[in-house]
Amino acid sequence: MARPIPWNCRQFNGEFGCNICLLEGIRVPKRRGNVRVYPETNDGSPVELRTLEQHGRDMKLAIATRKMVNGIKGETPLVILSGFDYVKACVPEYMHGDCLGVCKQFLKLLFAGKKSQRWFIGDKISIVNARLMNIKPPYEISRSTGAVDDLSNWEASMFRSFFYITFPF
Ligand SMILES: [Zn+2]
Repeated sequence: MARPIPWNCRQFNGEFGCNICLLEGIRVPKRRGNVRVYPETNDGSPVELRTLEQHGRDMKLAIATRKMVNGIKGETPLVILSGFDYVKACVPEYMHGDCLGVCKQFLKLLFAGKKSQRWFIGDKISIVNARLMNIKPPYEISRSTGAVDDLSNWEASMFRSFFYITFPF
């Protein structure tokens, strides 16, 4: 979430907001608003990844034209760090990408997806909840999971606990 400030670029929900690749992304409706997603290419062609050299070219062009280039607005102070590849050093954001992203999506498919899918186990929610309630996590885990039919109220740490401590139960 803080990357756009030192990078001087768009944030995650803007066009070209991904700090890993050069996909523009598309906006899709979600609940009462919309979100930006980065779908795979239809033809299976590889996605172009950001590089330090490409970032430098985009930055110079953005400064010269005063227009955003691939999500880059202009100069970044990071260029003074000689020998530091700040593009490679920028890793995917764990809390939103992993815990609230992939983990949450996976549990939704298991428990709230389509009943016709072979992985659907939404009819076993009471059994899963009972087993989760009986798990005694190690003391390092400050927040255990909640009920799987209440995923919308889970915090990121609860998804982390589910996948790294209690799954598979
Ligand atoms: Zn990307």
